[in-house]
Amino acid sequence: MSIIKEVNIILAHGPELSAGGLDYYQLGLWAASLHNCRVLALDPTLPPDELIGRLRAFLLPGKEHRVLLAALEPLRRAQRIIRLLLDEMGINPEFLTVLDLQEALGYLTPQACSLKAQHLIRLAAAMNSRAEPILSLEVPVSTRVLVWGDSFAALKAAVELARLEYSVCMAFPGAGLSPLVPGAAVNQSPEAELLRLLDEARSQAGIRLLPQASLLGVEGAAGDFQVKLATPEGFLNETVGAIILAPELRLMPGDLPAPAHPRLMTLTGLEEILVTPEEVQALRESETASLRVAFLGGDSSPAALRRTLAAVNRLLSLEESQVLLFVRDAKVGAPGLEAALEEAAGAGLIVFKVPALPAVAIVADRPHLTFFDPVMRTEEAWRCDLAILEEGYAPAAGNDELAAHLGLFAGPGGFLQGDNVRNLPVITNRRGIYAAGPGRGVVELDQALAEAEVAVLEVEQLLRRGKASALQGRAVVDRGRCVLCLTCYRLCPHGAISWDNRAIINELACQACGVCASQCPNEAIQIRNFTDDQVVAALETVDPRLTPKIIAFLCKNSAWEAYQAALKMHSTILPLGFTPLRMPCAGKIDIDYLLKAFTFGADGVLVLGCHPDNCKSQEGIRHARWRVEQTQTLLAEAGVDPQRLIYRSLAANAPQDFVAAVNHLLGLLETMKAA
Ligand code: SF4
Ligand code: SF4
Repeated sequence: MSIIKEVNIILAHGPELSAGGLDYYQLGLWAASLHNCRVLALDPTLPPDELIGRLRAFLLPGKEHRVLLAALEPLRRAQRIIRLLLDEMGINPEFLTVLDLQEALGYLTPQACSLKAQHLIRLAAAMNSRAEPILSLEVPVSTRVLVWGDSFAALKAAVELARLEYSVCMAFPGAGLSPLVPGAAVNQSPEAELLRLLDEARSQAGIRLLPQASLLGVEGAAGDFQVKLATPEGFLNETVGAIILAPELRLMPGDLPAPAHPRLMTLTGLEEILVTPEEVQALRESETASLRVAFLGGDSSPAALRRTLAAVNRLLSLEESQVLLFVRDAKVGAPGLEAALEEAAGAGLIVFKVPALPAVAIVADRPHLTFFDPVMRTEEAWRCDLAILEEGYAPAAGNDELAAHLGLFAGPGGFLQGDNVRNLPVITNRRGIYAAGPGRGVVELDQALAEAEVAVLEVEQLLRRGKASALQGRAVVDRGRCVLCLTCYRLCPHGAISWDNRAIINELACQACGVCASQCPNEAIQIRNFTDDQVVAALETVDPRLTPKIIAFLCKNSAWEAYQAALKMHSTILPLGFTPLRMPCAGKIDIDYLLKAFTFGADGVLVLGCHPDNCKSQEGIRHARWRVEQTQTLLAEAGVDPQRLIYRSLAANAPQDFVAAVNHLLGLLETMKAA
């Protein structure tokens, strides 16, 4: 049960004390009558000395104050007061609520505006009076880092970490360091700078190389992962504070069948014979004929296309060559790639953009291609000396197993970073585990190296040379209530839960999403400042005079932002009885909240969260959708129209979608009322 504390309400107003239908004098009198509240009316345009003097007289030094600042457009008009409160007065940010009264304007009568403002203040005060401080705690962590993989990104990360005096364990499945340069021929020697990186990784005392390693298991969480590795020397147990994943890409043949004729070869095969151009020239039909080569695909990624074009250019530089490139969906979205394609076309390359790659048969000992030309709209055939089969880049072979050991939501195509824009560039769903370069996708070398640097920065920020800073008590287990069912352990999307004889939350790894709290069967977990008590207290503020009563549970990462943005669109007038509740994640909204909203008089309830590939907790929105469906069933059983509860996903920058969702529910409620 939360302890209710006094709330200091600051009403920031213009010199005239009344604006847009709001009478601050009356509002102040009303607020002063609220239980446990004190009020100060303040003009933010006063000189700074006077402002601070009045604030100091109101908020006596030496006490812990909860402050609710209510103003029109506070982030613009009352910005100075906010700064003074946080900087000069040292108000804990968890205890400062900033309320935009803009939402209370625009209703038909001053009385309606005033009732709306009162509702918003009461709602914010209910949450603020139950707020608890969140303190930062220094925790000792391991400064050893596991770098998994032998790509250039892995080498870069290992070398940078070693230079920063972290102890690095660099493990990889291969027998030796053999990194690829994406986009370059496999037999092309890397540039001098990359060779230096290789040398430094081999010689740095702070880097322990573990070839032919396999990862058998990982326990623990950020700052204290226990990693079990198998190496030719035996099993190794390492404690590491962070893990960087950059396993090397592998080359994969495309969809066409493997070559069964010497004139059908992979790009790697061509790169090998291009070392001796005479060998290539000898493939011509006669000494006077030109060399005819067809590339079938090779455009599955910018890096693959760059590599294909490198081979194309070498062929075009030979005397009398004719080169055709068949692509389906050329990926030219990388610096300079479109220009490189145009340059090759200028040098004689003929590009066919085809819906399907040509069929290849061997006729009279030569590849014979048949294909549909979408420009001429004709079936075509071409006889050539060499047909080069596509070879794309694919994620490392062991990624699925690695992701399972590490508790990662794997990304599309078998990479190690979940498909979620919030993760970019190197974040995974687990704090302390980062995916860089080939660990997270087919990226070109410059980008892979840049990502390795970002991953190192993340490690630096997390481990801080052995003293990490963790926010204390954001998610709290009531050990007296926990029955160790481990539901929370299974559901936590961030791998932050372990147990002794009760569930334990790792404060460094926890991201306070609340997914565990909403699913705990014994209500043993509370998310500080998003507690069940606070939600109930907020629901109690629903004013029967304000109709229609729509209670909206808004994920703070998307819907809350969209709601705030909607308030800035002057055309937005929300229903008078609209009650917005800020949630840490849609995954925190449990069935109990939804049912309670109706028992507290809601005409309709909205659940708004992120788009599925944008959910910060990855699975939060899936839980929310499931709970909405379950609640709709319960409502129907209780004789309540389930359409009164709706779920929508939206982006933070889509206020129009927020307004559309509210209006949609409003329309349904009006139809129901009329029926
Ligand atoms: S879900 Fe609740 S009861 Fe079950 S282990 Fe976690 S905290 Fe304990
Ligand atoms: S609040 Fe979220 S991150 Fe923290 S322990 Fe619970 S489920 Fe995991």
